[in-house]
Amino acid sequence: MTRTKDQFLVFGSPAIEEAEIQELVASMKTGWLGTGPKVMQFEGDFCAYKGAKHAIAVNSCTAALHLSLLAADLQPGDEVITTPLTFCATVNAIIHAGGTPVLADVDAATQNIDPTQVAAKISPRTKAIIPVHFAGRPCDMDTLCDLVHRHQLVLIEDCAHAIETAYKGQPAGTFGDFGCFSFYVTKNITTGEGGMILPRTQAAADRIKILALHGMSQDAWKRFSDKGYNHYQVVEAGFKYNMMDLQAAIGIHQLQRVTRYWQRRQEIWQQYNQAFADLPIQLPLPPAANTVHGYHLYTLLVDEAQAGLGRDAFLSAMHQQQIGTGVHYLSIPEHPYYQERLAGSLRIIPRL
Ligand SMILES: *Cc1c(COP(=O)(O)O)cnc(C)c1O
Repeated sequence: MTRTKDQFLVFGSPAIEEAEIQELVASMKTGWLGTGPKVMQFEGDFCAYKGAKHAIAVNSCTAALHLSLLAADLQPGDEVITTPLTFCATVNAIIHAGGTPVLADVDAATQNIDPTQVAAKISPRTKAIIPVHFAGRPCDMDTLCDLVHRHQLVLIEDCAHAIETAYKGQPAGTFGDFGCFSFYVTKNITTGEGGMILPRTQAAADRIKILALHGMSQDAWKRFSDKGYNHYQVVEAGFKYNMMDLQAAIGIHQLQRVTRYWQRRQEIWQQYNQAFADLPIQLPLPPAANTVHGYHLYTLLVDEAQAGLGRDAFLSAMHQQQIGTGVHYLSIPEHPYYQERLAGSLRIIPRL
């Protein structure tokens, strides 16, 4: 679509095409709106795309992270190490699962969690690590996986930016025990709201299926099918995190275009690199050798001393130019709730 200069350019607006509109309408006409055959198809397609064995579709990446932590048997007070440069959902999921978030700082150049900082934060209470492949750039998985094995930790990858991301030929989300994906509106592909979990084992997949639908025994997923009435039994107190067929109807077609969209973002990324090369701002690092960058966010670092204007002045100027932007992110220690709640475990000094 072409845009004239007086139209506001919305940040991260999705590309919705005719195929998903038709699929969605077809779902509505059948009357099967909830979890059904389209969710099953989307899970199968996502497994095939990722080369994974198990995939469970849920209604957000936040739900995916929460269920992964629960399926990892997180106990109250267990520590989970993650990055301060992430969306609040990563940390909230740890808190809701009963854990204590511990922040390990990022490498300033890659903006990804620094494995040296992770190693320094490992304690006898550490249960899991949640790296975020920031902006779609893979974390240093060799070093992180080595730490995970040496300390027998659970590895949960937050792949909200990283559907296409790969590290040394291996797809993001398949390195650890769980990979969590987002299909929120601004993400690389969308279902409106939606998420996916790739659990490594059958046992974890079974547990997540139960937790995602009220804690009802697995057959409950089929209880409204035409195969005859199925009683459901509740085996634990679960959640309402299942994906709807209405969402999967969109996702099935978005997933078919995942590489086309990725190529288009790569082209735009390269245009930006050329256009901004001489500006007094820090551009994203080029992708590391032997990796696939997901090109989710094109991150500019605006340093007031160097650029002559600060971040917020830059944001206002962009807005005046009718260009939408996002701040990724106000770091976790900059939010009042975490300052209060995590006072003991935040050793990073907020500088708002
Ligand atoms: C978007 C995002 C999430 C949450 O995804 P939802 O699908 O909106 O729940 C989690 N982590 C990161 C890094 C994100 O960017």
